[in-house]
Amino acid sequence: MPYAIAIDGPAGAGKSTIAKILAKELSLIYVDTGALYRAVGYYVTTQGISPEDEAAVAASLEDVRVDLKYVNGEQRVFVNGEDVSGEIRTPAMSMAASRVSAIPAVRTFLLHTQRDIAANQSVVMDGRDIGTTILPDAKVKIFLTASPESRATRRFAELQEKGDPATYDEVLADMIKRDYDDSHREISPLRQAEDAVLVDTSGDTLEQSVARIKAVVAQQLEG
Ligand code: C5P
Repeated sequence: MPYAIAIDGPAGAGKSTIAKILAKELSLIYVDTGALYRAVGYYVTTQGISPEDEAAVAASLEDVRVDLKYVNGEQRVFVNGEDVSGEIRTPAMSMAASRVSAIPAVRTFLLHTQRDIAANQSVVMDGRDIGTTILPDAKVKIFLTASPESRATRRFAELQEKGDPATYDEVLADMIKRDYDDSHREISPLRQAEDAVLVDTSGDTLEQSVARIKAVVAQQLEG
């Protein structure tokens, strides 16, 4: 029987880094659901559609196909057959993703993609509403968070490594806005599922966070 580990939380809490390590150790598929919203944000932006134009974004979904594929164990995201895995990792695409993610038609469209992936294989899936909406029966649910400053510090370092010109203050401001929007949207807002375990990684090294999460997973899988 396939099972799922759901990891939700705000941007920059370390979800994807930790989920990847966990997936590797447990031989599960890692699914980064943010990439799906980013792919839709990317698609509408390249079509000249504003991510805030709800009717136009909803109509455009008829023409878009978003697929996740695994190449050498790495998740790649495709929009109408084009690999956009690199293009979607910019601050502009983070914002576009957050905007389109508040549109009900987009969430319904991607709900099926996410459930289909988890239907036939065991997964570690990270996102905002995995434990609450996408996989409410997930065997393990973790809500991973950290202070805005420590999350912005991590995200800033990642962007710098890629040569992105965003400043720390911009990254922090974008993150605070995105968290606010994600937590206050009407449909599937970012929130901790009642049966999720809260883990705050502020001040942790990566090793410490991984060890804490592994302890929670081991305990929940046994129970
Ligand atoms: O996780 P990531 O930063 O890549 O997500 C980008 C945006 O996609 C988030 O800010 C959020 O608005 C949206 N998202 C979502 N539900 C998910 C994953 C991401 O609404 N499960």
